[in-house]
Amino acid sequence: MQYDVVVCGLGSAGFTAAVAAARQGAKTAVLEKEFTPGGILTIGGNCAIDQFNNPFKSGDKMVIKGIGLEFVKKLEELGFAEIPDMYAPYVHHAQYSVKVNPVAAAKVMDDMLLSEGVDIYYSQPVVDVNVEQVDGEKHIKNVIISTKQGLKTIQSKVFIDTTGDGDLSAFAGANFDAGDNNGTFQPGTIRYYPAVIGNGDYVLDFGDNHNHVNKMDATDSDALTMANIAARKMLFEQMLNLKNQGQNGIMASAPMVAQREGRRIKGITSMNVDDFVAGKVFEDSICYSFWFVDIHRENEPALIKYITSGVTPTIRYTSMLPKGFKNLITAGRCVSSDRETNSALRVKASCMAMGQAAGTAAALSAIENTSPTKIDIKALKQRLKDSGAVVPAQME
Ligand SMILES: Cc1cc2nc3c(=O)[nH]c(=O)nc-3n(C[C@H](O)[C@H](O)[C@H](O)COP(=O)(O)OP(=O)(O)OC[C@H]3O[C@@H](n4cnc5c(N)ncnc54)[C@H](O)[C@@H]3O)c2cc1C
Repeated sequence: MQYDVVVCGLGSAGFTAAVAAARQGAKTAVLEKEFTPGGILTIGGNCAIDQFNNPFKSGDKMVIKGIGLEFVKKLEELGFAEIPDMYAPYVHHAQYSVKVNPVAAAKVMDDMLLSEGVDIYYSQPVVDVNVEQVDGEKHIKNVIISTKQGLKTIQSKVFIDTTGDGDLSAFAGANFDAGDNNGTFQPGTIRYYPAVIGNGDYVLDFGDNHNHVNKMDATDSDALTMANIAARKMLFEQMLNLKNQGQNGIMASAPMVAQREGRRIKGITSMNVDDFVAGKVFEDSICYSFWFVDIHRENEPALIKYITSGVTPTIRYTSMLPKGFKNLITAGRCVSSDRETNSALRVKASCMAMGQAAGTAAALSAIENTSPTKIDIKALKQRLKDSGAVVPAQME
């Protein structure tokens, strides 16, 4: 199969990337290892989307709009999202979270992708990649996916890595950081749903019930296997305790431990925490992000650093371009950044804004037959603005 743009991984970032690329006229496909879109938003059991606004900013407080906002508004119209008042005075950081129903979210993602003509490949993970050297840079010729019919090859002019953990880029030989670079990663979380009696039958308690899970090395499938086994053991012990207390136990859980951090693929530039919290705007700042530095730790409180009041952090396009590659873009939690910055920019609205920028850039470069490293950033910003996204103003 030959495409203009192939998006690998259909989480928050991959979803907006694929919709954006298709809307820009690119023949687009999305490859996803599960049967459900949404990544951590759906199968990860974390249905909160932060943060579209900066409550401390003067003027328009909505710092992320575009496809992400369109998506949650669609869900709200259908009765499956709660969008809080983004202009309400600040009381607590969680008050601006958009809460979505994960089943409806996945269905609306399917609908939006299909209506834009995106080819969807579910349960067909990227397992390998063929790379060639062109003019001293790496060029991805195709990716290999695993399917019921065996291995298949998918070709594209441009590839977008939105696998969260940066699988595609790593398979292609990109350099990366991971966790603290010393084997420690933020704990993951398994969401579960205790059973309570309602209307004479069991119903699930959808309260925020979760356990933290340690040793989530995102670069090692064996370690992740052990972490998921440990999570189930923990849940089972809780169930036995509940049973012993005469309660009904736990009836369901998310199918996997949700991963907070994975690889950070080294880019042409890399975002650092000082610039991030100070809201520095670069020539290639392509979207905003709003959340604080928030590194969860195994046996101590999270490491927190707040954003300088009134400013809004930005995401650099050149940090989304893996160094030494001709036709690869990253978006979402695998972009190039130090660990502190990554713990902030990983929130879902930011991932959606990055995804839209990546998809638009990929389409522009595929249609113009040029590398994403060579496209005109001003033209990219204009396309993003024209399609409803917010682009940081340099003199702000
Ligand atoms: C426990 C927890 C709580 C959180 N709480 C919040 C919160 O309250 N608010 C908030 O905004 N954010 C929160 N976050 C952060 C946020 O949810 C994630 O950082 C964000 O969803 C990441 O989006 P993404 O698209 O980059 O990656 P993901 O959502 O991880 O999506 C990656 C997708 O790629 C697919 N994939 C992976 N490998 C392959 C492969 N080889 N081939 C094909 N597909 C592949 C995956 O199946 C997945 O669908 C939380 C995260 C966690 C883990």
